[in-house]
Amino acid sequence: MIRQCVHDALDRIQSSFPRIEDLETLLGLCDPDEIRYLHATSSSVRNEFCQERVALRALIEISSFCHNSCLYCGLNRYNRKASRYTMTEEELLQCVESAVKQGIRTVVLQSGEDGTATESISQIIALIKRTFPIAVTLSLGERSYDDYHAWKLAGADRYLLRIESTDEILYRNLHTDRTLSSRLDCLEHLRTLGYQVGSGIMVGVPGQSITTIAHDIQFFCEKQFDMIGIGPFIPHPQTPLAESPPGDLLLTLNTIAVTRIATKYPWMPATTALGSLNRDYRIEGLKAGANVIMPNFTSHHYKAQYAIYPNKQSKTESRKRLEQLATRVGLSIDYGRCDSLLPG
Ligand code: SAM
Repeated sequence: MIRQCVHDALDRIQSSFPRIEDLETLLGLCDPDEIRYLHATSSSVRNEFCQERVALRALIEISSFCHNSCLYCGLNRYNRKASRYTMTEEELLQCVESAVKQGIRTVVLQSGEDGTATESISQIIALIKRTFPIAVTLSLGERSYDDYHAWKLAGADRYLLRIESTDEILYRNLHTDRTLSSRLDCLEHLRTLGYQVGSGIMVGVPGQSITTIAHDIQFFCEKQFDMIGIGPFIPHPQTPLAESPPGDLLLTLNTIAVTRIATKYPWMPATTALGSLNRDYRIEGLKAGANVIMPNFTSHHYKAQYAIYPNKQSKTESRKRLEQLATRVGLSIDYGRCDSLLPG
């Protein structure tokens, strides 16, 4: 039995800019029938606006150095136990090549904010683009307009930079040396420069509430991102948030579902963090409306060192295994570049 208020909230968020009260109603659902209905609605919105397919993005974690101190992240500079590495150009190219051999047409180069020289990154991007017919996505954190510009000129196609929270106080509490306004500026710069832009949040960081998540979803609707990543917060033992509980699975899935229904077009990963809880919940992420899987192609000997949270799922997954994941939810893998689906 689905309550009328749930039908009404769903109708309204599909047809107009979502109201906070409607988002809160839907995010907070906990009755099994209503949850099934919410997730079925978001799957059908995904299938209508993005087709019945899953995109693959090969994640390559190129460096674990970081000069930031994000309270939730195992790479933060105060974690003296973290092992630090930077891949050589040759190692990185090998990772890209193995992803391409598996038929993947997008790589995501991710790192801590390690201050790598702009020019070295530009050279790597240009080399990848010369060698392989693929899209290059960067996830290297906050940099200057000029750096983003140089990387775009070198051939980068997309950039992922999660907003983490649109609530100024929560943002400040989680990032001692970053401000919400500089993050917003970076997202604006990336858009101006013509990147396909991805953003997102963690669900369950201390101090977050259903209301703050509802405001984050309004922000996603306002900014119309090409990609949105939503995953649970997982506490890392060597961070100030070590004792905080992990993000709630159901709230994470509801956040994916509500975001999908409200925003319609973005590519949304069933995140690695969803695959790294007490079991792999990426299937549930796809059932809630996600449409991207990010298999990890970081070199074997570096994988464990990129420890943003414990027990990160980074097993090498065969093409067959990835196809099975998609098939189990009635989707098929799209081996194309899978560029932005936003209209106009
Ligand atoms: N430095 C870049 C940045 O900040 O955008 C990219 C790397 S950062 C590790 C990538 C993402 O990992 C962050 O945006 C954050 O949401 C997520 N993350 C970090 N620590 C996490 C944790 N403990 N649990 C879940 N996700 C986490």
